Amino acid sequence: MIDRFKLGAGLVIFASVGIFGSQAIPWSHVNSLSFLSVGQGDATLVRSEGKAILIDGGPATPSFDAGARLVVPWLKRTGVRQIDLFVVTHPDQDHVGGLPGIARQIPIREIVIRDDFRSHPVWQAVSSEPALRGVPITYLKQGRTRKIGEANLTFWVLPALGTKDDNDLSLVTLIEIAGSRALLTGDLPSTGEQALIRKGLPPASLLKLGHHGSSTSTSVELLEVIQPETAIASVGATNNYGHPAWQTLQRLRRAGIRLKRTDRDGTLTFVPNYGRWTLSR
Ligand SMILES: [Zn+2]
Repeated sequence: MIDRFKLGAGLVIFASVGIFGSQAIPWSHVNSLSFLSVGQGDATLVRSEGKAILIDGGPATPSFDAGARLVVPWLKRTGVRQIDLFVVTHPDQDHVGGLPGIARQIPIREIVIRDDFRSHPVWQAVSSEPALRGVPITYLKQGRTRKIGEANLTFWVLPALGTKDDNDLSLVTLIEIAGSRALLTGDLPSTGEQALIRKGLPPASLLKLGHHGSSTSTSVELLEVIQPETAIASVGATNNYGHPAWQTLQRLRRAGIRLKRTDRDGTLTFVPNYGRWTLSR
């Protein structure tokens, strides 16, 4: 009887860890990086020691607000009660459109954006939304590092490329948690990637493809420096832009890099694993 009881209890414990493993670990102790499936746009969540950093907030159109309809429910479901830092890569609708809808329901402690966008008309409109009034905004004129929880963030403010394209001024973020690195370049084109390489980039095992996998980003040179194991394409299903571009996919294939995409794979959560990242879902 005793043996059977022990066996039974063991099975119960095994089942609860096996099936509900992710819920069994308190979120306050989890280090993770999630690429949210928000359609054609970007929203990336970093969690570390109970802190939450959101890099971009997904798209919003007059008919669908991915911030309010997708990001907020996901944050609530996974226990995020507050965003400690919201990073705006650049004020295009597919990155910043969802921010007001998020701010209406989840408190944001601080926003970071490049100083170049201070008087950008889209940013002016977004930042004057009632939900964002009173949220401290840090306007970056130069790169800096921040530590939030166990996550070390490095922001790169690259020089303007002489065009009027917002993508060129994308704020670049390198995330490092427990020795595992991930690079997010917003919608930076390959000309900007050259400037980034000159800054001296370390390798990173995870790369979010610049500009949703457009052919004009993710140069061979960048891949050689970063040497990612996995690349993420944050894209909407059957988007009008043809993202990710076949040229980008070919470059990844030739370099032996695994591709994951939010339109087919849904939201992708990775956990740091001794210099690499393990897909947990
Ligand atoms: Zn974009």
